[in-house]
Amino acid sequence: MIFPFSLLLISTCTFAESGGPLSPEQAAYNVNFYDLDLSIDPVTKSIGGSLLCRAEVINSLTTFVLDLDNPFTVDSVLFKKGGGDFETTLFNHTNGKINITIPVSVSAGDFISAKVFYNGAPRIASNPPWGVGFVWDTTPSGKPWIGVACEDDGADIWWACKDHPSDEPDSMRMKFTVPNPLTCVSNGRFIDSTDNGDNTSTFEWFISTPINNYNVTIYAAEFSLIEDTYQCVSGEEIPFYFWVLPEYYNTAVNYMDVFLNEFNFLEAICGPFPFGTDKHGWAHAPYWGMEHQTIIAYGHNFTTNSWGFDYIHYHELAHEWWGNLISAKDWADVWIHEGLATYTEALYVEHLSGMDDYHQYMDNRRPSNNHSYPLAPTEPMTAAQAFDNLNPYYRGASVMHTLRYHVGDSTFFNLLKRWAYPDSNDYDNTNGRLCQILTTDNMKEKAETATGRELDPFFDVFFREASYPVLNVVRGTSEAAFSWSTENSIPLDVNIPITVNGIDKTVEMTAGEGSIALSLSDNLVLDPKKWLLMDEPNIVTNFDDGNLGTTHYRVEQNYPNPFNPTTKIQYQIPVNGFVQLKVYDVLGNEIAELVSEDKSKGIYSVDFDTAEINGREITSGVYFYTITVNDFVQTNKMLLLR
Ligand SMILES: [Zn+2]
Repeated sequence: MIFPFSLLLISTCTFAESGGPLSPEQAAYNVNFYDLDLSIDPVTKSIGGSLLCRAEVINSLTTFVLDLDNPFTVDSVLFKKGGGDFETTLFNHTNGKINITIPVSVSAGDFISAKVFYNGAPRIASNPPWGVGFVWDTTPSGKPWIGVACEDDGADIWWACKDHPSDEPDSMRMKFTVPNPLTCVSNGRFIDSTDNGDNTSTFEWFISTPINNYNVTIYAAEFSLIEDTYQCVSGEEIPFYFWVLPEYYNTAVNYMDVFLNEFNFLEAICGPFPFGTDKHGWAHAPYWGMEHQTIIAYGHNFTTNSWGFDYIHYHELAHEWWGNLISAKDWADVWIHEGLATYTEALYVEHLSGMDDYHQYMDNRRPSNNHSYPLAPTEPMTAAQAFDNLNPYYRGASVMHTLRYHVGDSTFFNLLKRWAYPDSNDYDNTNGRLCQILTTDNMKEKAETATGRELDPFFDVFFREASYPVLNVVRGTSEAAFSWSTENSIPLDVNIPITVNGIDKTVEMTAGEGSIALSLSDNLVLDPKKWLLMDEPNIVTNFDDGNLGTTHYRVEQNYPNPFNPTTKIQYQIPVNGFVQLKVYDVLGNEIAELVSEDKSKGIYSVDFDTAEINGREITSGVYFYTITVNDFVQTNKMLLLR
């Protein structure tokens, strides 16, 4: 799913929520196969049919629990054990759960099947893909255009399932009946279509690999089809299909180079497209986008952004690796989907226009440090809780950015491929065995294997602590000492990129500490390219180390720089005096007066917050700050980047 620009758009629902703690009833079985057979009626905005779930028993159980949203009426439920015959069984449907009585004794290793017959009007999406539900739209020529999106609350808003990300079926069959002349497209392979002779047709599809239940989807409209073959980086030919509204067919045909270039880049950095044996499929959707496996939603009007790419197409395609091939075991691990998909956007910007633009792209996505939760909490979360609280997009991407600096480029780019494909010779995902459902700890273990590095400190800080680490710098007369502070006092071993008098250097950090030779007159800039996801550093001058502090004025370079919207300016004065600190624009106009008072000798720090300036439009650009105290005057330059 793409980043929601307003969190107010997210809706939550008590009964249909997806994931969270796995109940004992859910833990008692492992889904093996779903068979969904639904009629979809745009006139009454209702659906109805059956869902068969076949599962392997893990712990003996007497009630088989499936999730299904409250608006539906369950008419009957059939049950069978192993290869026996279906028999009707008792059930109740309350609070979004169907509790199915298992009429025979079952034990670990048995296969059981339940077939649920239900119908009703599914929820209507308020703002898809963020609000969940059906989309009963019309095309520009006034014909039905139907879709469904359900990531926030799970597939149980339209079909009965075990609504937890830790369990995916090995395969799934779907049959959808829609009014003529609509076509209904879905995930996996197209098997057959049948005209039922009653002005409806049934479309059958089969997914041959595991799939997240929120990725199962439909699109119905009078589509035109663009068909092609993509050359996979592993050598095979992959069937490509794009079902597009006829009104946009020519536009889409002319746009296919954008799709292809983005596909080729993602294969180059992540490995082969994972689901080529089913298809590489897209459908023109009545909403922006969604990562529906092998039938991705595209509704972005064939537009590229100012960075030169179609970020909806690109982001949703990246999910075929990050989300669909590699799936989070709990929604608390959803950075695996959104952080990695978002980070690959920055890599594409780098590919298109170089490192400066890569850094700019990441700076624009730098998350503030105000989280109540770590990026990857160890407690289970529902989908809505995770999307509301974890900032998995920008924070996840920023942690990947810092990890790249930490392990180095060649190691990091190898790691991306090994996360997707642990065996560099094993790309053939014909039976879904390469799909992995992983926790954050699993990702760490795989990263340690791929990089040959101990990554506990990195993961303990950036994934398991709510706030970012703080860098402490103590400047003495001939040395600067660096140390990391973290919530749980983890000895973070991430080195510090710096410039000293404009020259790039690195402070090696061991067990959370490091130092370099540096005199007080040297100009030190910390992390000038902003590789590190950290809080504002604490920089102090140690007066006990020599006596410069009592005889020198000093004005530090503001930090961060460039900045937006706030930055910190530190200065020291060796004697008492009246201090004035003012900010000017390039034309010499005074923008702000930050200090105007008597100060006794010492070290001071003042924040320049551009949000607090009234009556002036503060735009991106160079600004100057000038400190005047006694007969001392110094002016430094700073850069505001909006
Ligand atoms: Zn996404």
